[in-house]
Amino acid sequence: MSQSEFDEACLLRRKYWGRKVFLRAIVEFSNHCSQNCLYCGLRRDNSGLKRYRLEYDQIYACALIAKRLEMGTVVLQSGEDPWYSGQALADLIVRIKMELGLAVTLSLGERTRAEYALWREAGADRYLLKMETWDAKTYARLRPGKTLEKRLESFMYLADLGYETGSGIIAGLPGDTEDSLRQACLRLAELKPDMLSISPFVPHPASPLREHPGLDAETTLQLMAFARILMPAAHIPVTSALGLQGDTVRLYALEVADVLMPSLTPAEVREDYAIYAGKNQQEAMPEERAAAIRGLLLKAGFTLPSDAGGAWRTRSEA
Ligand code: SAH
Ligand code: SF4
Repeated sequence: MSQSEFDEACLLRRKYWGRKVFLRAIVEFSNHCSQNCLYCGLRRDNSGLKRYRLEYDQIYACALIAKRLEMGTVVLQSGEDPWYSGQALADLIVRIKMELGLAVTLSLGERTRAEYALWREAGADRYLLKMETWDAKTYARLRPGKTLEKRLESFMYLADLGYETGSGIIAGLPGDTEDSLRQACLRLAELKPDMLSISPFVPHPASPLREHPGLDAETTLQLMAFARILMPAAHIPVTSALGLQGDTVRLYALEVADVLMPSLTPAEVREDYAIYAGKNQQEAMPEERAAAIRGLLLKAGFTLPSDAGGAWRTRSEA
């Protein structure tokens, strides 16, 4: 790893975000997916997965826990699941905004521009839509029936509609090299997302990429540092896929990253949100996990603001 690049990224992280770590509660409300991405355990052809859907009241109850735990943002994520209509999700967003005052981030994959607009009008603040890879051929192969061009178009709709945007890649997919991954970071920076997520590939045993090796922590950290240098004021999360490597790696990663997304998905279903092997397997309840994370971060000298932690460009001190 280039130590000087990592050090520069640490300095930039401190310049823009100090020692703050933003905790965003993620609620993974459905593992049904109409897509068949070759890298993901939720793909529709994975018939071995027990599928679940949370009702709207259950999702709201998770957001309420986020509020009680003083997290400023709730992230609603799912497979691409048209069972949830645009209007019903808009009603849920209104309820969370009006009654809880949380920032709402959506990560629901590709939906129509009209739906994105409806959710934005309902008060949704942010949308996370990763490009996954910048190689158009690889994209078309790994996401059957989908194109990179269409993904980019969806991202542009979101930016146009005034969402704070998040994007990113899975690093370590077939065909990736150090050079192609750096190129991908450069292309991502051109999109000027407010959040930039670099997730190491972790294989899922029931996916076609089960034999493809996961990416090591060091390469992932190096790419995160590169991303910080390219976009010093962006939010950069420590993804749960990197978090699998343990607390030492997580804390080290937070020297360049500034966001953690603890899962508040209910215990009965959380293990079934199996995007990759090992996801969501901690046994403790959300309150205990949140308390443990807070303790760990405070001990390491980080501060934990409870505000929504908006994008740098929208902050008053910017
Ligand atoms: N269905 C939505 C959101 C849920 S998937 C979507 O695809 O946008 C959330 C993220 O999980 C994806 O964006 C992808 O980056 C990540 N992911 C999927 N499979 C993965 C794997 N095997 N390793 C690491 N990250 C993975
Ligand atoms: Fe579905 Fe998202 Fe997984 Fe693709 S990455 S199979 S769209 S959940």
